[in-house]
This record gives sequence, structure tokens and C-alpha cells, in this order.
Amino acid sequence: MATDELLLAPTTQTQPVALGKGVVVGGDAVVLMVGPCAVESEAQLRAIAEAMVAHGLRVMRGGAFKPRTSPYSFQGLGVEGLKLLRRVADEYGLLVVTEALGVEHVPLVAEYADVIQIGSRNMQHFPLLWAVGELDKPVLLKRGFMATVKEWLLAAEHIRSRGNERIILCERGIRTFETATRNTLDTNAIALVKATAPFPVIGDPSHATGRADLVIPAARAALAAGADGLLVEVHPDPTQALSDGEQALPLAQLAQLVAAAQRIAAALGRTVA
Ligand code: PEP
Ligand code: MN
Repeated sequence: MATDELLLAPTTQTQPVALGKGVVVGGDAVVLMVGPCAVESEAQLRAIAEAMVAHGLRVMRGGAFKPRTSPYSFQGLGVEGLKLLRRVADEYGLLVVTEALGVEHVPLVAEYADVIQIGSRNMQHFPLLWAVGELDKPVLLKRGFMATVKEWLLAAEHIRSRGNERIILCERGIRTFETATRNTLDTNAIALVKATAPFPVIGDPSHATGRADLVIPAARAALAAGADGLLVEVHPDPTQALSDGEQALPLAQLAQLVAAAQRIAAALGRTVA
């Protein structure tokens, strides 16, 4: 698509993206992807997987390679984290979304993941976009926290131009003058992308707000704006989390998140997968 046509197309139909195991993002059902910010232990993943299965959720997120602002923060378990994710997910019949931090990680991450996440800080890391563009695997492209919608859509074009059309966009909050929350959820962007681009879009209320108590309200807002799903950080015990504990929804509140999503989805004539 030529640059000037981006954002101008009148009513673009969302092209659904199949993740495997019958899970489709961009169809009638909104898809909840939940899991820890970072994979920490088998016990942590098992507790989350059990709760997911109890609520009928099919897609587990979790970082093995973490893009941390400080080099002194926990950087993730690396390959060990990928192996744990795959093992627990397979045992519970779940799909895996996890981040590839650099070009050199793409073949490794592709081996273990069902969906490859490109993080906010990497949205314009073009060689990484080209590398996942060569794969036959869905890509979750997070919006850069300082990126315009046009830059985000052009980043998606970098992936698509290499042949991979299975792209899901993720609005995870942008940096604004407001500092009371970690970022600002751009619900306009969700509605705009739905109206003008063929890619499904999901909302990440965790990084958008940075506060566990705002995750469910922001999740409702993302879905109300038209999001095809959510990416939500949960933890069995957020006080013990090795990363992003402040924004982790306690696992005990997963039922509330699912119920809220079901209510909003129903109001829009949709269901929750
Ligand atoms: C994440 O989803 O774990 C993450 C690091 O998010 P972002 O790239 O949006 O900061
Ligand atoms: Mn996180």
C-alpha cells in the first residue's frame, strides 16, 4: 500500500489471523492472551496455565528474553524460559506468544513460539521486521511508545513486504505529557486501525497503565474501541514478580477480567475465545 493511502482507506475489512488450534484473532471472538511479564519458573507457569484452562483461555504470553530499560534488571531466563513455556503450554493445550529481542533470536524463538512478539522498543528495528517477515508464523507487532499510527502501520508493511501477512497489531500505550500512569492507552488508534488497516488489533492494558488496579478498566476501554483481543500480564503473586509486578493482575482476579471482557464483547455482538 502506498504511504499516502495509509489511514485513508474508507472501510477496510480486518483479515483474521489464525494462530493454530482453531484460535483466530480478528474474527467474531475476542482473544485474551494472558501470562507473566517474564517466565520465572515452572510453578509460576503451571499456576497460570491451570487458571487459563479453567476460564477457557488458549493463548499464553510470557517473556523469555526481556527488553529491560535497565541492564541491571532481570533479563529473563532466555532459552530455558522458552523451553519452560513450550512444555507447560503443550501440557495444557495452550498456544505461546513470546518476544524475539533481536534478529539472532528469531530462528530460536520461532522454534518454540506460536506467535512471535516484536516489542515496543523494537517496532522500527527494520532488520528484525524483515527477519520475521520471512517466516510463516503470526507476528504480534507492538506499537512503539513514541510512534505514530502511520509509523506503526509502515512497520507492519516492512513485515508484509517480505511475504508474511499474518500480522496482529498491539496498542500498548504511548508516552504523553501524563506521568500519573506508565503510558496512555490510545483508544483512538485502536478504532483508527480497525477502520483503515487490514490487520487485527489487540490492546495491552498492562503496559498502557502500569497499574494492576487500572488493568480491567483499560481492558474494557480497548475492547469497547474495537480491539480484537487483549494481552494482559498476570502473576500468581505480583509482590514476588521479577518484572512489572506493579501492573500484574493477580491471578485471583483473572475471573473478573474474563467476566468484564465477556460483558463488553456481548454488548458489541462478539464473544470471548
Ligand atoms: C511485554 O509485553 O512484555 C513488553 C516488554 O512490552 P512492550 O514491548 O510493550 O514494552
Ligand atoms: Mn512487561
